Formats: sequence, C-alpha cells, structure tokens
Amino acid sequence: VTDARPLALDDWFVRDLGGLYRPWQAAPSPAPELVALNDGLAAELGLDASALRSPEGVAVLAGAAVPAGATPVAMAYAGHQFGNYSPRLGDGRALLLGEITDNAGRHRDLHLKGSGRTPFARGGDGKAPLAPMLREYVIGEAMHALGIPTTRALSVVTTGEEVIRETVQPGAVLARVASSHLRVGTFQYAAATQDADLLRRLTDHAITRHHPEAAQAERPALALLEAVVEVQASLVAQWMAVGFVHGVMNTDNMTISGETIDYGPCAFLDAFDLATVFSSIDQGGRYAYGNQPRVAAWNLARFAESLLSLIGSEIGGDAERAVELASEVVSSFGERYTRHWSAALHAKLGLTGEHPQLVQDLLELMAGQHPDHTRFFRALSAAARGDAGPVRDLVIDREAVDAWVERWRAALAEQDRPVEESAAAMDRVNPVYVPRNHLVEAALAAAVAGDLDPFRRLVDVLAAPFEERPGLEEYARADPAATTPYVTYC
Ligand code: AMP
Ligand code: MG
Ligand code: MG
Repeated sequence: VTDARPLALDDWFVRDLGGLYRPWQAAPSPAPELVALNDGLAAELGLDASALRSPEGVAVLAGAAVPAGATPVAMAYAGHQFGNYSPRLGDGRALLLGEITDNAGRHRDLHLKGSGRTPFARGGDGKAPLAPMLREYVIGEAMHALGIPTTRALSVVTTGEEVIRETVQPGAVLARVASSHLRVGTFQYAAATQDADLLRRLTDHAITRHHPEAAQAERPALALLEAVVEVQASLVAQWMAVGFVHGVMNTDNMTISGETIDYGPCAFLDAFDLATVFSSIDQGGRYAYGNQPRVAAWNLARFAESLLSLIGSEIGGDAERAVELASEVVSSFGERYTRHWSAALHAKLGLTGEHPQLVQDLLELMAGQHPDHTRFFRALSAAARGDAGPVRDLVIDREAVDAWVERWRAALAEQDRPVEESAAAMDRVNPVYVPRNHLVEAALAAAVAGDLDPFRRLVDVLAAPFEERPGLEEYARADPAATTPYVTYC
C-alpha cells in the first residue's frame, strides 16, 4: 500500500518499552478476504478506505503484509484471571502493528487479533473464528455509538483457513484500534520483572499518553493511579447505566486509558437483574452485572500494588506510607463510582437536581420487578410526557410503579425546565437499540453461513441508538422466543 497515507505507522510503544514485547510476524493467510470495513473509523484515522479495500490493503489488515516502517510485536502482560495470577499472558494470538495519528492528532494503536501463534500462545492455536471477531466489531461499535469509551474494530478479514472450536468456522483477523493496549496486566508484568527502569518507562509512557496532567503532579505515579481509578469508575458506571456485562474483567482486560477492551463473553441485560451472568466460564458469578464495580476496585488494587515501588520512591522510600497513600486512592473508587453512577441515573431520569431517594427507590423497584432494562428507561420518557402505559406494561406490580412515577413526575414538574425538555433529554441518554443477544447471535450465525446482510443491518441500526425509527421494532425488544437464560462462550 503506498498512496493516500495508506498506513503510516509510528513505533512509539516499541521505542519506549523494550522488555515488554517480542518482535513477531503474523502467520500467513492463504486467501485473505475483507468481510467488514469500518469506513467511519478509517476516515477518523485519515486512512483511505478504498486503499484498505485493495488487495494490498487487505493483506495489511490480515497481517500478511507489514506496512512500511512498522515493527509488529506481540505485547507482554500478566494478569489475574478470575482472581488467579498468571505471570505470563501476553498477546498469544495478536500483534501490535504500531500507532496511527488520527485526524484529531491522537495516537491510536492498530492491533491485529487472530493473526497466529506468538511466543505467548501457550497451548493456543493463535487463531480466531469469524463469529467472535464480528461480535467484537458489532458490540464495540454499539458501545461507541452509546458514547462509552471503547476500543473499536477497523476491519474483519477472513484468512481462508478453518478454525476448530465447538464447530469449524472460517478463521478471521480483527484489526482493532485503541488509544493504547496498556493494561493493568502490563503493569503487573513490568513490576514482576523487578526491573525498576522498565516500570518507570512504562509509567512515564502511560502518563504521557493517557494522563499527561499526572506528569505535573508532585507524585506522578500516585497521580497516575488516581487518574486510572477515576477513568475506570466513570467507565464502569457507564456500563452499568446501559446494562452492559463485560463478562471477563480480568486485570489483563482492564485498560489504563479507560476504554472498554476485549469483547469476549460480554452481553447486554434484557431483564434488569444484578445477578445476571452470561459467560459459560463464569461459574461463580464473579463478573455478574452487579459485581462489576466491586471487581473494578479489586483490579485497581492490583494496579496500585504494581506501582508501590515507584510511589515509595516518590515519598523518599517510606514503604508503609506508600501503601497507605495507594490504599486511600484505591478506596476513593467507591465514592467516584457512586458519583458517576448517580449522575448517569439522574440523567436517565431527566432529573437536574439531587434526588437520591427517588433513584434508590427506582433501583429497588427494578431489582424486584426485573423489567427489560433498556425498554424500561426508554419508556419513562413517555411516562414523563403523560403516558405511563409503556412502563406499566414492563412490570408485574403496576401499582408500585404508578406510585413511584407519581413522585418522579412531581420532581420533574418542579424543575426549572419544561417537562418536555426533560423528556427529550432522557431520550438522548436512554437508547432504544442495544445489541440484543438474540439479534447478535442471529447476525453472526448468518455471517458464518455466508450472509452478511443481518450483520450489516445490525451495525447500521446500532450506529444511531437513541433515534427511534419506524420499522425497527424487532431491534428494540428482547427475544420473544427466549426460554432459557442466554449463555455466551468465548
Ligand atoms: P482473553 O481471555 O481473551 O483476555 O485472553 C487471555 C489470554 O489468552 C491472552 O493472553 C490471549 O492472548 C490468550 N489467547 C486467547 N485465545 C488464544 C488462542 N486461540 N491462541 C493463543 N492465545 C490465546
Ligand atoms: Mg484479553
Ligand atoms: Mg478475549
């Protein structure tokens, strides 16, 4: 690829962070074929979509050709998986190609997933089946359209090979764009090497890249910890507000940037229930919907541990004091999360003032009634406008909802903006369309069978989640045929 800034990649990570990667190349793809290209994202990155569609472009997106100047590497990281520490995970089937400067001047990683075994592959085959890569594409795009920080898919290419899982599927490579792939697990890995210089370089890189204000702080490593606690508190509150269950919140799947990463066994709630678990591998419910804030705090404590030696040297070597300071910051997750969650709920309810009791009572009502999460919040704007019918239809105990709605409408009426304006504001934060599990499954099954239309239509619908459109009713409801709980496999 040569023209129109096809893929001019920087190697910032590679220059800064020797010790945290192995140079590597992708496995050959016998017959790469483009299945999906994200034109909007390509434009944002200043890339020429037609160049990416050319055979040379597709070869790059499949990992079969290396863009000029790029040094593909498999990144090293450690991580706690379901609470158990693995000292060496890393990109087992992925490669960082390098960084692109987007139209806004921001560095964005271009990363391939499914590109073959690497030195970190352990027992894995290094491959990715088509359906999970399309799943990452559609859910990441939905999250982006919902306004939630996320990594995004630039493309999915089939390789011409077959991948064996429960079934035989086409092999695929996802090109993923992220503000970086620095994870809590990257810090755990660097800390475990006992190489103080490496940990320092990683910390400096992360600060420059994601939290530059920390560089000015008296204690930069402590300030980085605080910045990450803050972005993660905000992120998880946003997940909770849309009913997103990540499913595998291991420390290697938590970013320093505050972007959502690694769409494996994730799914959206249909019925509101804090105990919801979708992932087949999450037997204990560790990563259940309602546990996510707690798990995030737990992961951040692991992040804090990895920074302790640096925090200690920032305060003259007092190790005990370093633990105290770091613990205080990690403990602040609770109030930070509560602040973001409360703000999100107030916005979802169209409330401009503080109404903690009203919000609390609604959550209790929802926990008892299990209404469809997405439909319930969306239906509330109709109730604000005077038609409580749609909300009542989503619950068993209509009287309980009536009583709550009456109090809430009184609060709306007292605000210094017209109720219609509050209702319109609610419609801008309560989506009509989220990636409903049965729709995602149907679209992926069709794609694997060779029909990409349902996938494309779904991506299209989810690109404008707040704008209700006629003829799309089936995208706005839970599976009418659902009998058993939905289970995801990764
Ligand atoms: P995940 O659960 O997706 O966060 O992945 C956990 C670890 O397993 C990471 O180190 C991945 O690179 C690795 N991994 C997952 N699938 C494969 C595979 N098919 N081949 C090699 N490594 C893999
Ligand atoms: Mg992962
Ligand atoms: Mg994964």
